[in-house]
Amino acid sequence: MKKKNFIYKIINKDLKNKKYKTIKTRFPPEPNGYLHIGHALSLYINFNISKDYNGKFYLRFDDTNPKTEKKIYIENIKKDLIWLGYIWHKKKYASDYFNIYYKYAIKLIKKKLAYIDDLSIKDIKKYRGSLKNPGINSPFRDRNIKENISMFKKMKNGEYKEGEKCLRAKIDMKSKNIILRDPVIYRIKYNSHYKTKKKWCIYPTYDFAHCIADSIEKITHSICTLEFINNRLLYEWILKNISINHIPKQYEFSKLNITYTITSKRKIKYLINKKKVNGWNDPRLMTLSGMKNRGFTPKSIIDFCKLIGVSKKEHIIDISILENCLRKDLNKISFRIMGVINPLKIKIKNLKKKIKIKIPNHPQNPSMGYRYIYLHSSIYIDEEDFKENSNEQFKRLTINQSVKLRYAGIIKIKKIIKKEDKILHIECIYIHKKKTKNIGIIHWISLKNSLKTKYILYNKLFISKDPNKEKNILSIINEKSIIIKYGYIEKYIKYINKKTSLQLERIGYFKLFKKSNLILSQILLLNNKNKF
Ligand code: ATP
Ligand code: MG
Repeated sequence: MKKKNFIYKIINKDLKNKKYKTIKTRFPPEPNGYLHIGHALSLYINFNISKDYNGKFYLRFDDTNPKTEKKIYIENIKKDLIWLGYIWHKKKYASDYFNIYYKYAIKLIKKKLAYIDDLSIKDIKKYRGSLKNPGINSPFRDRNIKENISMFKKMKNGEYKEGEKCLRAKIDMKSKNIILRDPVIYRIKYNSHYKTKKKWCIYPTYDFAHCIADSIEKITHSICTLEFINNRLLYEWILKNISINHIPKQYEFSKLNITYTITSKRKIKYLINKKKVNGWNDPRLMTLSGMKNRGFTPKSIIDFCKLIGVSKKEHIIDISILENCLRKDLNKISFRIMGVINPLKIKIKNLKKKIKIKIPNHPQNPSMGYRYIYLHSSIYIDEEDFKENSNEQFKRLTINQSVKLRYAGIIKIKKIIKKEDKILHIECIYIHKKKTKNIGIIHWISLKNSLKTKYILYNKLFISKDPNKEKNILSIINEKSIIIKYGYIEKYIKYINKKTSLQLERIGYFKLFKKSNLILSQILLLNNKNKF
């Protein structure tokens, strides 16, 4: 296998040394929210490793915290994976292993490697010390095995209050790695678990549950993000000390961060609660379901992940890279159509008969067919394509400058009809000329050929380039992230399937948000310029 990144290098070596027969990876989301673009990268990495090595890929729900996890998140995560084409060999739940976790916790107690602590969460934190200062042993650290087991059983039977007791691994309060200073491995929670309901009131922590689940499932390479680098020693400590057969290894890569984008479920949830966005699948969010609603294609997301690849360095990717991947895909598949967002009426005085014009539905793909449009004497152009007076750089319609109508001839201003300062319409002369040089081309629609349309236009959700770094994300919200306009589109829209993406010529990519009362929503501009 080619060395695509450092993980492939490691796997190639492991296979050469006959360490594993089958390569197995997993994607382990916690069902406490919807997936976002960052998760797409993790999925891409894990899924493709299993595919490239003819191995197995598991979807595991890391559901060990009943406070925040819900069935609806499970359903949406599955939907997102299917949408991206990442089909799992097996679907697993950490909660299926609650009995096993419990058994291993008892084993650690019996080996004098775990103890029940009565310290409060606050005191545990205080006793843990800091990077400069070593930790201090808890006064409960040396409880005997019998007492520990009896108390752990009482914890399980619901005889203590939340926070009254917890189980901690007994490692080293003076370790340079703070994670190893007797981490909590079990805590009491009385919330009902979406799956196991009220069966348990003690739950393993991420560190205790994750490595054991990896081992039970015989995962070979457990890939996670860099913030877990210090947890790796704990991962290894637990597996070694519970004496489990299969020992997977953890490898870390850097989290995906994108400019103008939030990739944290907690912060997305906050925006939803503050009603700054309309739920998890708001098209302005970079959740996978939001992106799907916006009009992103699975291919564009996968192409993006392929392009940026895996790295070990923290960095932030420019959003334009993602947008370019989408633009490239949409360019290939989108139906070309003419629509006007800011309508300005033109009356062509010398056009006595309508002109029938055959135009392609896609300039490079003849298999998408063609259609007929008609140039009538009343048309709409976009307000932005007209300026009463302008210099030559403005290659569109002015008093002194004619312009070509796309697929048709040239128009030239005869008279601007105004009421006070407001332009009512413009009278033009039509020159039937196909070949032209050095003249701007604009899009248009005949009034008779058009339908009234509501356009939903999107701008970036944040005004700051790195919103993940902002303390108060509410202060960097772009209040103009949605703009509504009323314009027109070719009548032909009626024959287009709702799922087909559209390119409004010269403007950008749109999707049919609602077909019945004609609402189009913007996916992306044709170029990077913010037009509206
Ligand atoms: P969040 O901070 O948004 O809650 P998380 O890491 O807590 O993210 P999980 O559901 O635990 O979310 O993540 C599942 C997997 O996706 C983990 O392996 C995690 O490392 C990975 N992942 C999460 N965010 C990113 C990201 N921004 N880039 C790459 N991988 C990510
Ligand atoms: Mg998490």
